[in-house]
Amino acid sequence: MVFIQVAVPVPLRQLFTYSHTDTLQSGVRVKVSFGPRQLVGIVIESGIDIDDTSKIKAINEVIDSVPVIDESLRKMAHWLWQYYHHAPGEVIHAMLPVPLRKGEPATPSPAQYIQVTPEGRTTDSDSLSRAPKQMACLEAVVASPLIASEARKTFSPAVVKALIDKALIERVDITPELTAQAWLDTFDIGEKPVPDKEQGVAIAALNQQHGTFAISLLEGVTGSGKTEVYLQSIEPLLKAGKQVLILVPEIGLTPQTVSRFEKRFNIPVGVLHSQLTDAARLSVWQRARAGELGIIIGTRSAIFTPLKNPGMIIVDEEHDESFKQQDGLRYNARDLAAMRAKEHSIPLLLGSATPALETLNNALTGRFAHLQLTRRAAGAQSTKQYLLDARDQPIHYGISEGLLTIMRQHVNAGNQILVFVNRRGYAPALLCHHCGTTAMCKRCDRPYTVHKGQNRLQCHHCGATRSMPKECEACHSHEMVTAGTGTEQVEEGLMKLFPDAKHVRIDSDTVRGKDKLHQTLDAINRQEHQILVGTQILSKGHHFPHVTLVVVLDCDGALFSADFRAPEKLAQLVTQLAGRAGRASKPGEMWLQTHNPHHPLLQDLVNNGYAHFARHALMERKASALPPYISQFVIRAEATESSSAYAFLQQARGVLLNSNAANTSLSGLVPQMTGPFPCLIEKRQGRFRFMLVCSHEKRAPLHNALRLALPYLQGLPQAAKVRWSVDIDPTDF
Ligand code: ADP
Ligand code: ZN
Ligand code: ZN
Repeated sequence: MVFIQVAVPVPLRQLFTYSHTDTLQSGVRVKVSFGPRQLVGIVIESGIDIDDTSKIKAINEVIDSVPVIDESLRKMAHWLWQYYHHAPGEVIHAMLPVPLRKGEPATPSPAQYIQVTPEGRTTDSDSLSRAPKQMACLEAVVASPLIASEARKTFSPAVVKALIDKALIERVDITPELTAQAWLDTFDIGEKPVPDKEQGVAIAALNQQHGTFAISLLEGVTGSGKTEVYLQSIEPLLKAGKQVLILVPEIGLTPQTVSRFEKRFNIPVGVLHSQLTDAARLSVWQRARAGELGIIIGTRSAIFTPLKNPGMIIVDEEHDESFKQQDGLRYNARDLAAMRAKEHSIPLLLGSATPALETLNNALTGRFAHLQLTRRAAGAQSTKQYLLDARDQPIHYGISEGLLTIMRQHVNAGNQILVFVNRRGYAPALLCHHCGTTAMCKRCDRPYTVHKGQNRLQCHHCGATRSMPKECEACHSHEMVTAGTGTEQVEEGLMKLFPDAKHVRIDSDTVRGKDKLHQTLDAINRQEHQILVGTQILSKGHHFPHVTLVVVLDCDGALFSADFRAPEKLAQLVTQLAGRAGRASKPGEMWLQTHNPHHPLLQDLVNNGYAHFARHALMERKASALPPYISQFVIRAEATESSSAYAFLQQARGVLLNSNAANTSLSGLVPQMTGPFPCLIEKRQGRFRFMLVCSHEKRAPLHNALRLALPYLQGLPQAAKVRWSVDIDPTDF
């Protein structure tokens, strides 16, 4: 009888022991009984010694003959549950594609595909001219067979069925055969520009790192040719049969990145994003693990993709907040990328025009290599930035008179302008003109946002909507007015102010679904619209060569936020927005409308640029003892009674103080604690939210205090009444 430690997917911070007749390899999946349930666990270690064997249950079934988690990923899992103080079984499940969590086979099994029939191949396109969706589906299937479930999702079940009924396509079961380095037969390097001097230096430095662990920051202004550096620095790796993993913030927003890699190397690129079906996700996992895919591009969780011949990891737009998961296992994919690169002895490249202060600090102190691109590629000029003093000016729809004059100049010259508004909807509040009562979401205690187009109110914290009230619920007055401005209202205003210019609004209300966004972006670049109004979406990676003016209507909110990261986020947003505009023949300008034109942060950003601002902000963080100069974790608690959440954190505070004091070797290393105080979003969906922030200049004692405290926190009298979680290196308060 062999005793085996198994990670079982339950929210408990421990491994469980089971028995089996033989030793099992670490990383294979097993089915085990857990209470009344049967769960899929992962073998962590075989042949452990235990004292009391009487209650040990036997493993019910061994699923794999080959581990689904190889040694390097196992080490990463171990690091994850230690570092993030998370339940091991949940960590491992988070790393696996959904079908594998359920115990389905890890190697490709026959899957239902759709393929073209001989009739389909010879059918002429006129016969489907009235059914463009069927035509598109048929064309895709002619190019290569598609996983049936994936095709139904992309083109709709009705389209697939119609083509099957017409006998143009058919269902078949195919078992994909996977070959390592299969791309080498067709590998080809497409047309590429000659790198400029700075790019050349960066590429040469990166080439030196192949086969060793090293981390580099590529700090390059927007449009400076960072992607070109990625392309040229991975070229020798791909040629040698090595795989490259690229993390990006959001594929749906920037599909052109994927096609640039595909085109340059004529190579199979695996793409992992949130819209994929489980089957498609598993297929990429399998092909990457078998070494068939040369390049894997994915969002946050792609960091868990197994690689047979890893060559390099790239994190593009490394400052992007989406790399940090904000619920469950709250990992940061950028930090994990560093762990993985170290484990595989390969380089990690972090690229951004607006690096996170954490990353920049590592580059400035020499922990990371620092590569810089200071000029835009291909002769394009950078956008000039100015502050617009809105004080004492008449404001129309959130736009001051002075700003309007500037906008008119650009519109009259026939150029495009981009207007950034940080809120979607018509207005962030609806209130009574008579008594001032605001329409509130009762579950969040926050004003509803007015959506005029839908004639509804929506809570942007919990998503709840209701019809537009006709009268004030307090005094029954019929005169309701809106307060503040969102994208919808700005667009309405611009239609009145610029009746002859064509407008388009780009926010998550108007561009649901990625096709809609792409169509809109194409139309913009064909100059079908002259005035672009939108939210954050506009800051993400798109290039608008005809835009000569970018305006930001409100940057004052971020100047006075309780979140110490707000200025960094504002500076990143402003810089990324500025980078969307202009080209060699049409340089751009940007105006930030503010009531605080003398604010040092805005002055620094506008006059000296992000690179300077960020270095200055780092000095401020150091002076105020904030990350990255200290380590932090946050314990959050939420409950329907605000007193329960508060009391739990008060007790947690006591436990944390005592846990370190009891550990004599650590005396004097007590973490600093602030709180409990309400989260920035104090109430959501009827639950009150509080947090306790714990900091220390050294990470080890901070984590130690937490490790010692956790078992006691679970047993606190209030623990059963609250939902609580630990967030290590929090980025969001
Ligand atoms: P970034 O990733 O920094 O935004 P890109 O790599 O997308 O920059 O480059 C911006 C534009 O400049 C692209 O159209 C790219 O093809 C072009 N480009 C990049 N490097 C060069 C170069 N050395 N010579 C000419 N054009 C270049
Ligand atoms: Zn009223
Ligand atoms: Zn709400």
